[in-house]
Amino acid sequence: MNRDQPLAPRGYLPWWVLPGMAASAPVAALAGAPAVAQALFHPACAAFVISATLANCAWFGPVVTNFATPRREVWLTIDDGPDPEDTPRLLELLDAAGARATFFVIGEKARRHPALLDEIVRRGHGLGNHTQTHPVARFWASGPWAARREIERAQVDIRHSTELVRAPAGMANVFVHRAARQLGLVVVGWSIRSFDTRATSGAEVAGRLAARLAPGRIVMLHEGHRDKHGRSHHAAVISAVLEQMREGGWSAVIPPRSSWLSHGRPLAPTVNASGQRQSGGC
Ligand SMILES: [Zn+2]
Repeated sequence: MNRDQPLAPRGYLPWWVLPGMAASAPVAALAGAPAVAQALFHPACAAFVISATLANCAWFGPVVTNFATPRREVWLTIDDGPDPEDTPRLLELLDAAGARATFFVIGEKARRHPALLDEIVRRGHGLGNHTQTHPVARFWASGPWAARREIERAQVDIRHSTELVRAPAGMANVFVHRAARQLGLVVVGWSIRSFDTRATSGAEVAGRLAARLAPGRIVMLHEGHRDKHGRSHHAAVISAVLEQMREGGWSAVIPPRSSWLSHGRPLAPTVNASGQRQSGGC
């Protein structure tokens, strides 16, 4: 694996700042300084919650939300699979359009459908880690062990090499950033959220994306969701998105690492891999 730099988060807040502030508060209280205790504890809690619940927040580590390219190309990412109904249809549609995408898969689904992952890779698409159980309601509050376990177990069940991880709903708290760094993974967010799981038609999503496409954008799509009648709209959505992209002269590519990360920090979308950087997120 070609790493241009270790992912030491120079320029980001150290992971221990908030736990350290929270742990110091009782000490200050016992020492007879309740005002100091409150001044440590409440900001630490507030900063933890804010950084953990704002999607793509990059206070504690890099979050890739764009890649550098001068061309009309975007990075399609498809979350929440693999799915035995959706994945084969999406692969056919992507192939027919000459498009490549990265599938951020859930570990326990990957374990149930290993052949789908093999097929994704065989067709030239990428894989990313989307946690083992996709605990979207509570992942933001994960402690250090829970965060690492969710990501590490998925790495095992994915079986294929990947250096990418995306938190459910993009809510990566300080411990998720720490676990990603320990496991040699890069946190990937998005720059365009399609809201495709709430859409009732492919045209609705394609229309929403059309105005937002720009070189180097990362588009977040999904698979594996069903409406109240048990129907999947994902194939229709991706078909419409690919058609919209074709009409606009857009390509769907898997960009090289050098176009989205340099010296451990995300690259801005409109520059080539020349070392210019952006902090991204919040
Ligand atoms: Zn997800």
